[in-house]
Amino acid sequence: MHLFVFSRKPVLYLLMFLLVICFWGFLHYQYLSIPSLVKDPETYYIVRTQEKVTALTFDDGPDPLYTGTILDILQTKNIKATFFILGQNAKQNPDLMKRILNEGHEIGNHGYSHSYIPNKFIDELIDTDKTIFQSLNQQTLYYRPPGGIITKSIVKEVTANGQILTLWSVDSKDWQNPGPKQIEQNVVKNIFPGSIILLHDGGEKREQTIQALTEIIEKLQQQGYRFVTLSDLKQYDADITVQKNIPPA
Ligand SMILES: [Zn+2]
Repeated sequence: MHLFVFSRKPVLYLLMFLLVICFWGFLHYQYLSIPSLVKDPETYYIVRTQEKVTALTFDDGPDPLYTGTILDILQTKNIKATFFILGQNAKQNPDLMKRILNEGHEIGNHGYSHSYIPNKFIDELIDTDKTIFQSLNQQTLYYRPPGGIITKSIVKEVTANGQILTLWSVDSKDWQNPGPKQIEQNVVKNIFPGSIILLHDGGEKREQTIQALTEIIEKLQQQGYRFVTLSDLKQYDADITVQKNIPPA
């Protein structure tokens, strides 16, 4: 009997150890790689400024059901935003792509098919860039990985491809469809100068995002915020860098 117990124990320990490792791996993949928790300094998710400026970003479009309405709202409010488009949607909606560009918004790359498989990211990034270049004769400077999944090698490869891996610092959580009021609160309560706001204009039902958008804009404007594209937002970080280089008196 003793012998039986002794021969099983190490196997049990090994199994428990493997179980813990698997669970840790799952947690790491599911949660720890989510950028709002990691705040990776090698990515663009914030600029350090005291100016009340912020960037609205819309992922997963262009979508014929929602993107046009979002563009209408932005036009009415005279606001410029950034759209992280999917290559497959860009191909199907060339008129919306032109409209986004012609109305002064910035276009970022969000991959081709919204695949969550990290080793497909770079191929999809390149395919999407080709699609955008064919329709608009323009290169993208900003890349946002689907689901915000990042690894060191993805950051390295994106940088080597000449793009800036871009995440966000204020999550509207509109992807949960929690109701327009909640989406608005998620933004208004968490806003700060130099933040990047995550919203969606495609992928799933986006009526709630559309319902929340005007309120988000008006509430933030009442607080003194201005809305800029990602490239314009970056200029504010540059100011701080210049100030840092001034030697102390
Ligand atoms: Zn997405």
